[in-house]
Amino acid sequence: MSTLFDLNGRTALVTGSTRGIGLALAEGLAQAGARVILNGTRAEAVEQAVGAINERLPDLQPASGRAFDVTDEAAVSAAFAGWDREGIHVDILVNNAGIQFRQPLVDLQLADWRRVIDTNLTAAFIVGREAARRMIARGAGGKIINIGSLTSEAARATVGAYTAAKGGIKMLTRAMSAEWAAHDIQANAIGPGYILTDMNAPLVADESFDTWVKNSNPARRWGKPEELVGTAVYLASAASSYVNGQIIYVDGGWLAVL
Ligand code: NDP
Repeated sequence: MSTLFDLNGRTALVTGSTRGIGLALAEGLAQAGARVILNGTRAEAVEQAVGAINERLPDLQPASGRAFDVTDEAAVSAAFAGWDREGIHVDILVNNAGIQFRQPLVDLQLADWRRVIDTNLTAAFIVGREAARRMIARGAGGKIINIGSLTSEAARATVGAYTAAKGGIKMLTRAMSAEWAAHDIQANAIGPGYILTDMNAPLVADESFDTWVKNSNPARRWGKPEELVGTAVYLASAASSYVNGQIIYVDGGWLAVL
């Protein structure tokens, strides 16, 4: 039973892991035995997160990090080429990097639409493609976990581009499965509910939104980043070896009562 969820010997790249959900997932995967690679756009933030994780978990495989913008195809290629040279194989990819931008659709500028789609959807394709090419060539399988959202399923006002991107994540996950499952690559997604991170700081500070989240959610509270770890470890491990193209919502029951 214990080997089902054991990630020893695996390397996991978690994009957007300098804070919030990505950092919690990286720490959780490290605790399950994986050697983790952290990422974000700012080198100092990546370095700080790597230092913090290694200080908190001194007895585990040391984490490393690499700053790059997940929307920059050349930068993503260069990162993977660097790991190739160092003999590092990414066995587990968590496409977590994401941004939010709130604006009614009628006022939304095309540049902002593109920025949100690029970061939340196109980047999962760019990074996923680099990872899968190598997983397929090695023939040792792999795991891809895309981070969706409640908006993979349900629309909310003022987050149209984000909703389109996260809906796309659900279908990109299925497309990845259609092509890569035969290579023993399991691509799945996690759809977090309302989670307490920097991204939601303005919403937590807004009393009426905070009350709405608590009243509309059967769990009657916001989720914590670490509450996504169990699902991530499951999707990163042998326990999910025949699970493909699924999105698992971790939302306190929010979608169940919609
Ligand atoms: P945060 O804003 O707290 O953290 C976002 C992380 O992504 C940071 O590490 C940031 O690093 C990184 N990042 C942003 N843009 C890029 C980029 N272009 N390239 C590389 N890294 C980048 O977000 P959360 O932890 O709240 O969200 C993480 C994921 O979970 C996102 O995909 C989000 O959409 C999703 N999600 C979050 C929910 C929530 O309630 N919080 C609910 C549902 C889904 P840096 O600033 O250094 O670039």
